[in-house]
Amino acid sequence: MQQETLIIIGSGPAGLTAAIYAARANLNPLLIAGNQMGGQIAITNEVENFPGFDSILGPELTEKMRVQAERFGTRFEFDEVLEVDFTKGAPFYLKTYGQEYQAASVIIATGASARRLGIPGEDEFIGRGVSYCATCDGFFFKNKDVLVVGGGDSALQEGIFLTKYANRVRVVHRRDSLRAGDLLKARAEANSKIQFVWDTALDSIDGSSKVQGVTARNLRSGLVEKWDTDGVFVFIGHFPNTQLFQGQLAMDAQNFLIVDPYMQTSVPGIYAAGEVMDPIYKQAISSAGQGCQAAISVERYLEAQHDAHLVK
Ligand code: NAP
Repeated sequence: MQQETLIIIGSGPAGLTAAIYAARANLNPLLIAGNQMGGQIAITNEVENFPGFDSILGPELTEKMRVQAERFGTRFEFDEVLEVDFTKGAPFYLKTYGQEYQAASVIIATGASARRLGIPGEDEFIGRGVSYCATCDGFFFKNKDVLVVGGGDSALQEGIFLTKYANRVRVVHRRDSLRAGDLLKARAEANSKIQFVWDTALDSIDGSSKVQGVTARNLRSGLVEKWDTDGVFVFIGHFPNTQLFQGQLAMDAQNFLIVDPYMQTSVPGIYAAGEVMDPIYKQAISSAGQGCQAAISVERYLEAQHDAHLVK
């Protein structure tokens, strides 16, 4: 069993920022990164609202944070946490494919994953026309027709990105007004390759070996139509990656981890940062800020534990 002072789970802006602060505080953190470095920002194309950068590519921002964390001594493990036991207090038990650990403290920065529509054809055609990442898959839709589902910032940002490749991008939204902010709205409306389809939901994604079309329903008139298309990109929000902690840490009704103002979860010594605990802001910069807060809190928690030990 490997003994650690601090294990950080997750390699998005929250986890990497926590690592930078924890490493600088000499906590010798181990960051369990998952299969690949970076969270959602690493599959984002252009980031224009991270302070200090006019515009930077998501993977480049991730790499800068990784290098910075490593420079101060963070160790990285490309593995997945499969099991935890936080019920008995510290040291906390964690198990990955490759190792078992005991940690004096943990920062959970497991982020959030794309929500699915849950309609026939969706799971079947993932990687064969259904996608949740324009940056990853846009290239395969050169001169093709695609649909984007959703009406938030992600749908418009990714939809605009897709116009680099696709001939036509239809944004299919279940209401008749967008949730997205004004800047992206204006950019999308000015883009001649983008069309909006209002008050519409998809009933199914259709095809034989790949996506060839969808069945769409107008939610006002009830009219059901079949449309031809080559791809369906789904951007309808995210859910927090908290399955591993069910029954062990307090969560809200949407399964976000509940933390106190010091980023501590319901178990002392276990902290959380980023989209795993944040249903509201969900920005790379707010996640990074929460990672910083969590690391500073861990430092203070460990000092207090140490002091309590001295007094005993
Ligand atoms: P979001 O803001 O939660 O928007 C989700 C969209 O999907 C909404 O339009 C929603 O419709 C729709 N939707 C939800 N469930 C659906 C379903 N089952 N079927 C069909 N449509 C469904 O999520 P997001 O766009 O991923 O953005 C998340 C956060 O990241 C936001 O805070 C956003 O501002 C931020 N973000 C910012 C930028 C940027 O600043 N450049 C870029 C990307 C994301 P309703 O509107 O009817 O609820």
